Amino acid sequence: MTPEVRAEVLAVYAAADAAVAAAGPRCDASGRCCRFTEYGHTLFISHFEAELLLEAAPPFARPASRDGCPFQVDRLCTARESRPLGCRVYFCDPSYEARMAEITEDAVARLKAVADAHGTGWHYAPLHHFLNAARPDDPPPDSMTRHPLPVVPSEPEA
Ligand code: SF4
Repeated sequence: MTPEVRAEVLAVYAAADAAVAAAGPRCDASGRCCRFTEYGHTLFISHFEAELLLEAAPPFARPASRDGCPFQVDRLCTARESRPLGCRVYFCDPSYEARMAEITEDAVARLKAVADAHGTGWHYAPLHHFLNAARPDDPPPDSMTRHPLPVVPSEPEA
């Protein structure tokens, strides 16, 4: 990732963080957001997010499972500074659901615009695909390249 792309991706994170802070969703620190299969969702991330996450995240055991995030320890995130957009935006507060969708769509659109502007390509897949790839920018399977929201209801694995 070039310094220019990094700065633009981090600006997307900052805008999403500010929008979430303004919305003020409630967090019960249940850890639900990071236990994907148990609570019926999947965390999709882009290759930009994977690269930033893997640069700074602690070591983890491979293969990573699709069931939950290896960086959640005792209900806390051990990769908080570099966590992907879905982790920044997702809260299980029902009153925040509509705003969460708007913030997510805006942030993903901005990331796609960064990809288009810099010709990086666009890879989008469940977290575990990137964690198990040899390099974070290795493309996931074609069927997994796009999804409208980072955190979505689970579907059976192909
Ligand atoms: S990176 Fe952190 S916040 Fe995101 S799913 Fe993993 S433990 Fe949860």
